[in-house]
Amino acid sequence: MSLSDRILAGDRLALARLLTQIENEQPEGFDALSGLFPRTGQAHLLGITGAPGTGKSTLVNRLALELRARTTATVAIVAVDPSSPFTGGAILGDRIRMRDLTGDPGIFIRSMASRGALGGLARTTAAVVDALDAAGFGWILIVTVGAGQAEVEIARTAHTTLVIEAPGLGDDVQAIKAGILEAADILVVNKADLPGADNAVRALQSSLELASGVRRVWDHHGRPEPAETGQAETGRAAHEVWAPPVLRTVAVLGEGIGEVVDAILGHRSYLEASGGRVRRDRERLSVEVHALLRDRLLAEFLMSRSRAELEAALEQVCSRRASPRQAVENLLAARA
Ligand code: GDP
Repeated sequence: MSLSDRILAGDRLALARLLTQIENEQPEGFDALSGLFPRTGQAHLLGITGAPGTGKSTLVNRLALELRARTTATVAIVAVDPSSPFTGGAILGDRIRMRDLTGDPGIFIRSMASRGALGGLARTTAAVVDALDAAGFGWILIVTVGAGQAEVEIARTAHTTLVIEAPGLGDDVQAIKAGILEAADILVVNKADLPGADNAVRALQSSLELASGVRRVWDHHGRPEPAETGQAETGRAAHEVWAPPVLRTVAVLGEGIGEVVDAILGHRSYLEASGGRVRRDRERLSVEVHALLRDRLLAEFLMSRSRAELEAALEQVCSRRASPRQAVENLLAARA
């Protein structure tokens, strides 16, 4: 049986082998993935991002168990940890794995450590997600270790993006600082047992109002009241408007997890009803195709030039005889 057939038959060792081939950029891995690609498009991709220490590992654990309990689908977790060296193992993935998920064969965890540029990591992550999708996982959780721009970009390629905050990390509203509020479909203030949680919730709510230009009334769960979500102003039907809720959790105790899963399921239904799922898929795949095209064209171009030519062009720029743009124009003109 081929590797692809074994993967489609649910063989986890075969899947792990393919993921390693993809991570190592082995051509046979990409060939297998191309063969599997028609089987993708079924999974719901859930991006989870937030600063270190907000409790993502703890929360992801609880979420995976709750998703398994509430839906029949299997769960794959991709832990993207750009900070950890490849040989040192991905620390985020280990923290998730350490807890009690390994007993359930319906949960699969894969760590992705940094290998060079973040852009490369985003591309590899996309390929790994495709492989997991083809393998039949209903939920794919893409967890990034931090809340930097690149990590947010990875998380926001998902259908539903969760941004995790926590009080007591020095800044109540890190999401705003990092500009990741726009990426969030669901906001979670974890560690709601700690002082400062209410402030964090309020700060997030008012930033959301500022961003949307709509004043909202929040119910005691942190969900925006339907009458105030802006339908009246825009004249759009309820299913066309998604107002991100701000939810509280205490991940260590499992509190509030049910509400987060409710919101995830709600967002999934909203995406399906509004056509948002098709749109997001298209956006994600378009980004992937463009990135691959850029990589490929650049690699081909560099292969077609001698090192001396490139050095000479760079020398022109360094000695201020040509601007970077002129140097590029010259290199391209000389190509013909
Ligand atoms: P990550 O870095 O975002 O993955 O965060 P972790 O899940 O590793 O959690 C960081 C620390 O916060 C750990 O010591 C957790 O036990 C603790 N923690 C996680 N959730 C909560 C919570 O809801 N309340 C409190 N008080 N501590 C929590």
